[in-house]
Amino acid sequence: MEINLVSDTVTKPTQDMLRAMFHAQVGDDVYKQDPTVIELEAKVAEMFGMEAGLFFPSGTMANQTAIKLHTQPGEQLIADKWAHVYNYEGGGVSFNSGVSCCLLNGNRGMITAEQVSGSINDPEFYHAPLTSLVCVENTTNKGGGACYDFEEFKKIKQVCDANKLKFHLDGARIWNALVATNDNPKEYGKVFDTISVCLSKGLGAPIGSVLLSDKATIHRALRIRKIFGGGMRQVGYLAAAGIYALENNIERLADDHRRAKELGAVLENLSWVAKIEPIETNILIFSVQSHVSEAVLMEKLKQKGISISSMGHGKLRIVTHLDYREVMHTYVLETLLKL
Ligand SMILES: *Cc1c(COP(=O)(O)O)cnc(C)c1O
Repeated sequence: MEINLVSDTVTKPTQDMLRAMFHAQVGDDVYKQDPTVIELEAKVAEMFGMEAGLFFPSGTMANQTAIKLHTQPGEQLIADKWAHVYNYEGGGVSFNSGVSCCLLNGNRGMITAEQVSGSINDPEFYHAPLTSLVCVENTTNKGGGACYDFEEFKKIKQVCDANKLKFHLDGARIWNALVATNDNPKEYGKVFDTISVCLSKGLGAPIGSVLLSDKATIHRALRIRKIFGGGMRQVGYLAAAGIYALENNIERLADDHRRAKELGAVLENLSWVAKIEPIETNILIFSVQSHVSEAVLMEKLKQKGISISSMGHGKLRIVTHLDYREVMHTYVLETLLKL
């Protein structure tokens, strides 16, 4: 049995998802003539109380487009020090938009309105970069799947409005946050200027993200997506996988969350485990005692068919997902206890 707990991006389409893809109606989406893409974009926009959506090949491109939409070269965005847009998008913030980042020391990847308020440069002080955008992540990736309290978003939004800043949500794992918190997604549309969501993480589609905003902003995003090389043709085959994922794979994320918590409960009692970060969704981050080598541990697990990842600094990461089924879970729990 090969069990990959490295990421929730490793899932493969099921037969039913492939069938939905195979039967998709398609057209040239660069001419906005692909009915399946149009259906997906409208469906996601409606879910989040936004006017319009735009399909992207990756979450990175959707985030980078949002940053380009909201900033001019030389300006600055505010984000947590662990933000995906800063750490894992290849420096695109500066490459694509010529923007610098003011990084905040948040809690598990989450920042507060107070922190944001304290790091906005005075727009009259022209020596400093002009602050123009705040980016947050929900759930947080490097922060271990932590979920924001929605009230904090409302407070950050007030700070943004008072200072004429745009507010972007990197919602690569927003579905996990919605399932864990029971937040109403429609409320999100009221708070954020743009939201990016991924279909290829917990939802199990092979590819795809959607950027959401008002109609005028999405119209501008169309040009930026084209410039980034993200205009795609008969891409309804991929959008169909996204529609299938939205209709079938959201509620079941609760299983991923339960399994992550059960893994945490077992790890907690093992002598070689030093610390486990709080588990809110499908990501489990833990560290081992100093006399235990991460590499040796990972190799031992690998020999039993279980892959997990190292985050450096003695931290290890386990991510549960659609293709991590109950039989595998039982086996992993037993294997950990015997290790
Ligand atoms: C995965 C992820 C993205 C987008 O990644 P792609 O691989 O480009 O789709 C963006 N933000 C966060 C927090 C992520 O975890």
